[in-house]
Amino acid sequence: MIPGEDPDQLLDEANVRRLLARHSAEDSRLEISRKVIYHFHARTAERWRDGRIFLAGDAAHLTPPFAGQGMNSGVRDAANLGWKLAACIRGELGAGLLDSYESERKPHAWALIRMAVRMGHVMMPRSRVQALLTQSAFRALSLYKPARDYVMQMKYKPQPHFEQGFVDGAAGGSLRGRMFPQPVVERADGSRVLLDTLLGKGFAVLEWDDGRHPVSEARENRVPGATMVRIIPRDHRFVGNAVAAAPGIEVRDVTGAIGAVFDRAAVRGVVLRPDRYVAASVSRESDAEEADRMLASLLRLSQSARAQSTERKRLELAIA
Ligand SMILES: Cc1cc2nc3c(=O)[nH]c(=O)nc-3n(C[C@H](O)[C@H](O)[C@H](O)COP(=O)(O)OP(=O)(O)OC[C@H]3O[C@@H](n4cnc5c(N)ncnc54)[C@H](O)[C@@H]3O)c2cc1C
Repeated sequence: MIPGEDPDQLLDEANVRRLLARHSAEDSRLEISRKVIYHFHARTAERWRDGRIFLAGDAAHLTPPFAGQGMNSGVRDAANLGWKLAACIRGELGAGLLDSYESERKPHAWALIRMAVRMGHVMMPRSRVQALLTQSAFRALSLYKPARDYVMQMKYKPQPHFEQGFVDGAAGGSLRGRMFPQPVVERADGSRVLLDTLLGKGFAVLEWDDGRHPVSEARENRVPGATMVRIIPRDHRFVGNAVAAAPGIEVRDVTGAIGAVFDRAAVRGVVLRPDRYVAASVSRESDAEEADRMLASLLRLSQSARAQSTERKRLELAIA
């Protein structure tokens, strides 16, 4: 609606048909099953938690539909909160962990809302001249494939990255708080599977074993509930768990994707959360016990009392 338009007049059936006829005479004769004026918003709730009550999905954040991301954000909320609630209810992790839900999710939900607002400006031109300029610009961009892919595949979309929350350590800053990739890996029997299918439902520790660093012995006994995965480079041979220094799952980085990620971040291991975000990294310089220490430190973090989030204050100011 343009300021000054009357909602009742706009929804009048003859008017709806007149608007449709401008684009297609055929469409203007279709049966109209529903007509409604939809109000969209760009807002997030001030608090996403009050004691035992949590807000998720549209109850926590409302986004204009231009980016088609509202449900995506809601699903991310559920994925973030779900495993934390389960772990706390089972008594595996402390209730302090639940505070990380808002500090991890709110910045990303708000970043997508701002992106949708910007897209709305592009998709709702205020004049024919603006519409013509915008459409011409996109037509020109579409001639250059990388530019077309950038727009069509929404490569400008902000990726989730937890600056605060249930993340720890200084190593591998570019990986920490980000989702770990999902490459194909090869098992000792030659079968190839997506990495996630091997990781189970809890924490997982991925350790790079190129023979140059000592791998810890029988570590799985000291990291309760965590799946230990030893990854060998694609040109290495399987050692076999029975004779390997470290038990757990052994896979080959058959695509080279994991090695590349580890190389870029200068790490040789990561602690993955149940939602497959990187909780902490093990630096190349660290000794073999580092992942255990990381996990122990994360568990302590989860026991901590209500975390004071400076991010929350910053966002409230931004929204105001
Ligand atoms: C036009 C439009 C286009 C969109 N396009 C996209 C898209 O392309 N991609 C995308 O990801 N998202 C899109 N969205 C957003 C997406 O639809 C919402 O983000 C999503 O549906 C929110 O899910 P939700 O479960 O949080 O809330 P809702 O879907 O609102 O569900 C809440 C439910 O709770 C019920 N309820 C309310 N009060 C009570 C009560 N007191 N007791 C019991 N039940 C109650 C309601 O009836 C409702 O069923 C679009 C939205 C619109 C409006």
